[in-house]
Amino acid sequence: MADIIQLLPDHVANQIAAGEVVQRPASVVKELIENAVDAGSTSIKLIIKDAGKTLVQVVDNGKGMSETDARLSFERHATSKIKAAEDLFQLHTKGFRGEALASIAAIAHVEMNTRQADEEVGVQIKIEGSTVVGQDVTVTPQGTSISVKNLFFNIPARRNFLKSDTVELRHIIDEFHRVALAHPDIHFEFYNNGSELFNLPVSNLRQRIVHIFGGKTNEKLVPVEEETEVVNLKGFICKPEFAKKTRGEQFFFVNNRFIKNSYLHHAVCAAFEGLIKEQTHPSYFLFLQVDPSGIDINIHPTKTEVKFDDEHAMYAILRSAVKHSLGQFNVAPVLDFERDSNLDTPYGYKSKNVNFPTVEVDADFNPFEKENKGKVSVSYPKKERLNNSWESLYVGLEKKSDFSSIEFESEEVTGSLFNEKEDEVSTATYQLHKKYIVTTIKSGMVIISQHRAHQRVLYEQYLKNITVDKGVSQQLLFPLKLNFSRTEIELLKELKDSLENTGFIFSNFKDDEVAVNGIPLNISESEVAMVVDQLLSDFQSEIPESSFSQADILAKAMCKTLAVKSGEILNAASQEALVNNLFATKDPTVSPFNKPTYITMSVEEIDKKFL
Ligand code: ADP
Ligand code: MG
Repeated sequence: MADIIQLLPDHVANQIAAGEVVQRPASVVKELIENAVDAGSTSIKLIIKDAGKTLVQVVDNGKGMSETDARLSFERHATSKIKAAEDLFQLHTKGFRGEALASIAAIAHVEMNTRQADEEVGVQIKIEGSTVVGQDVTVTPQGTSISVKNLFFNIPARRNFLKSDTVELRHIIDEFHRVALAHPDIHFEFYNNGSELFNLPVSNLRQRIVHIFGGKTNEKLVPVEEETEVVNLKGFICKPEFAKKTRGEQFFFVNNRFIKNSYLHHAVCAAFEGLIKEQTHPSYFLFLQVDPSGIDINIHPTKTEVKFDDEHAMYAILRSAVKHSLGQFNVAPVLDFERDSNLDTPYGYKSKNVNFPTVEVDADFNPFEKENKGKVSVSYPKKERLNNSWESLYVGLEKKSDFSSIEFESEEVTGSLFNEKEDEVSTATYQLHKKYIVTTIKSGMVIISQHRAHQRVLYEQYLKNITVDKGVSQQLLFPLKLNFSRTEIELLKELKDSLENTGFIFSNFKDDEVAVNGIPLNISESEVAMVVDQLLSDFQSEIPESSFSQADILAKAMCKTLAVKSGEILNAASQEALVNNLFATKDPTVSPFNKPTYITMSVEEIDKKFL
């Protein structure tokens, strides 16, 4: 067969958005799989070792290359996919720059074996850092196999810059998902360190989504379909009740190419408005087919950004199509818009038996007494605890002595706030608008945000549990099964040890499911899914490198989810306990997220207002 690869003339090459093609193993995976797709393969196998750092290999059964093409493919701007600048607007392939193989060969040890269907033997080429070190005739199946070893062997700084295997693997899985979703008509296999991660048979889109994200996904999917002059839209959205804290299952494909586009994302979110909770994201798998001349994908080196000629029309169509689907499949009307969200208590206490933490009560303790400063405990009538869904406030107070181990950097603050002769100050607290706790201090009054204050209290407690003690666990009689995507399961495995220090016990990791056998004392079964979801979301947006920051994110995710919210009524004892606990923390002035926990107002300031 004829040779097809050509070197792009300079004036064409210069019009192409140049840039770093290879940033990490996942970039190699993306480029090689895209080439395999462009070669018309029906079966593609991805094999990696050590998250791609040692090996990335892609084997396809596509059209293969002639001997000349095989050599030429490693040249910069050598491509069979475009010939002239106009072709950039008639693209039907993933690649077009002719840069990927050249860039990869420059920084790794590459071996290519390729054979065209009408040839009896194929060709093998070995390249190390852009230098061809071998070329041979070889017996090889039809198609192309490219293995990329020792990535960045000649740029140690770049190699050292790579993240942990878990992180790099996660990036690879992301890239794999993107191509696999766009091509359900291709059989994909993915092996990591010798074990099979994915085996995706040829199927339709729905089946492909389910194969990738697990059996539970099927019931979540709602089809979207819309044909207009500007765009043909197809795909699925997930029902609003499955909206996630985690961003990550949002997929746009334009002419079968995965793209990121926050404007279009906004259009989908707008359609979901009112149906999902704030700070959650709808999941979607949406395919837009447009005339290639109406888009420009040459604006960014990674080819994941697209410029549409008519973005506004795209926005409007997308939003109304998604809305339509939500309505048509009876998803929207089921939701009760009249319901007061304040009544949706996130806690499970209403319907379950509460496990009381063991609290040692020092009934004589008065936190406002000077001598007791720094030795804070809770006192509240025992009875009240029974109908009080507020135990979480008391976590960490199992033992009074707990606090003696905490250094009081805040003592001065505490002192200046509460340093007062007892008889002059009332210790009464008052809850304002189910949001703030108001109490008096020496100089006037203090207004505490109940949510932020509780976050601070819980955060320090969890952090201590994770880093110092082993968190106490309550065993579940029936293990709780939680469903996640593979990527999330991988992340959970990585976090397992830290999570177990907080009291979680996990077992039975499956592809898309994990069993929870034990949970921390201070959370209820119904909160578990919420906490873990928040956690995964936080870890995905911020990848921790040290174990401290891991503990930190964990503690933050837990306190974010479990802290008492604005809108919850607190009884007097709870209010008082919250105030005491807050000022017993290391840094009572700010929440773990660096927001002020309280404000003060002096008598003088109040006086001024009366002038
Ligand atoms: P691009 O994909 O932008 O054209 P690449 O550097 O990725 O640039 O590839 C250069 C050329 O090598 C391609 O245009 C194609 O002709 C050929 N090629 C690369 N990979 C394969 C493959 N797996 N099967 C057949 N041909 C391939
Ligand atoms: Mg390519």
